[in-house]
Amino acid sequence: MSPTIDLDVGISEEMLALRDTTHRFALEVMRPIAAQLDRMTPEAVIAEDSPLWQGLEKFKAIGLVGAPDCYGPDLTPEARALMHAMVIEELCWGDVGLSITYSLWNLGASVARQMGREDLAEFFAQRDEFFCLALTEPNHGSDMVAFNDASFRDPAGRADLRCRRDGEDYILNGQKAAWVSCGTIAGCGMIFATYEDSKIGRAGGAVFLLPLDLPGITRGKPLDKLGQRTLNQGEIFFDEVRVPARFFLADDPDMYAMMLGGFLAHANTAMGLQFVGVARAAFDHALAYAKERVQGGKPIIEHQSVKARLFNMFMKLESARSFARQVAIQHYQRMGMIPFHYAAASKVLVTQSAFEIASEALQMFGGNGLCREYPLEKIFRDARAGLIEDGENHMLGLTAANNF
Ligand SMILES: Cc1cc2nc3c(=O)[nH]c(=O)nc-3n(C[C@H](O)[C@H](O)[C@H](O)COP(=O)(O)OP(=O)(O)OC[C@H]3O[C@@H](n4cnc5c(N)ncnc54)[C@H](O)[C@@H]3O)c2cc1C
Repeated sequence: MSPTIDLDVGISEEMLALRDTTHRFALEVMRPIAAQLDRMTPEAVIAEDSPLWQGLEKFKAIGLVGAPDCYGPDLTPEARALMHAMVIEELCWGDVGLSITYSLWNLGASVARQMGREDLAEFFAQRDEFFCLALTEPNHGSDMVAFNDASFRDPAGRADLRCRRDGEDYILNGQKAAWVSCGTIAGCGMIFATYEDSKIGRAGGAVFLLPLDLPGITRGKPLDKLGQRTLNQGEIFFDEVRVPARFFLADDPDMYAMMLGGFLAHANTAMGLQFVGVARAAFDHALAYAKERVQGGKPIIEHQSVKARLFNMFMKLESARSFARQVAIQHYQRMGMIPFHYAAASKVLVTQSAFEIASEALQMFGGNGLCREYPLEKIFRDARAGLIEDGENHMLGLTAANNF
């Protein structure tokens, strides 16, 4: 039983009930599936007979597809943000990679609606598929995060995915990196491309919300990585892909950088909420183990230094959770327009805390922490990936500080 409580004001019975349902799903469905997927090859993780798909059906059944829009129209922005924070924390307490995967299911229509494109929302609502956000390129990772840096507008700046206009259509050539989440299984995606003849480097770009079954689009091999092995990732290749104008979202340079910054702010606000779940999973395991493991003739929690270490983990968890929730509440109150430096601070603070808590929890398990039959080594690997995901942490800090 976790000693943590909700410090937030305004938690309703409805939120608590939804959290209970989500917690049961995380415990009974996500954790067992994630333990299996973690040991499988990236190809097997997405194969037809993979438990990934059974989990997806169960996720659909608990009604969380399209969260936070699925919570109903009557909630205030603050209540919606809080409810979402509680749900995401439980899902990521279950497994962060699976939580991200399932939250990308049928997201295309919601994204179109947020962009004010009802026509595209109707188009994507007809399709049952994963969504992806394709920003990172093989030669441009942090370069794409640095949307407010002078280097972004350097005329010499090149891109790996390029576009040009052809009458009413656009033509895409090149590729996105193997880091695109759900990259090999997504049916649609938000794609950032740079004009072939851009005079302002990577700032001269266009954004598309595309079905990924257009002729000329192919995928790479699923990526094999250290942590979050339950999350599919892989390259998307574009060879003279003709994109009808209706899938185009923006190209004005200021609008382009604004959309890029807006999406990064949204993603990093979500990352903050997600890694609270990872941090709590590590803390809960460490606490339970400290009560059970006997050394020196008593449970290790009765040794003073172990108590002190648990208290440190608890403080980090609670401060990370409070900050992530406040940032998310502001984000929803401001119609998705949280200043970038707050979103980045939430992501960096929470992922760093989650990594430190996971590392300390692994230490508390002693040698068992290193063994695959115990849960900590996987949580540690998952938390480690968080320091690079959706913007490498140092780089997010540099980009955030450009706002000061
Ligand atoms: C689990 C996971 C999920 C992801 N999901 C997605 C996704 O869905 N879509 C997507 O598009 N991308 C995704 N990414 C990619 C992620 O955003 C990039 O990995 C990240 O931006 C870093 O880019 P890079 O890997 O190319 O590293 P690089 O940019 O090559 O960075 C290497 C090192 O150089 C440093 N560095 C780089 N530039 C500077 C600079 N100007 N000043 C100082 N230091 C610098 C960095 O801090 C870093 O330590 C994901 C990554 C992970 C790990």
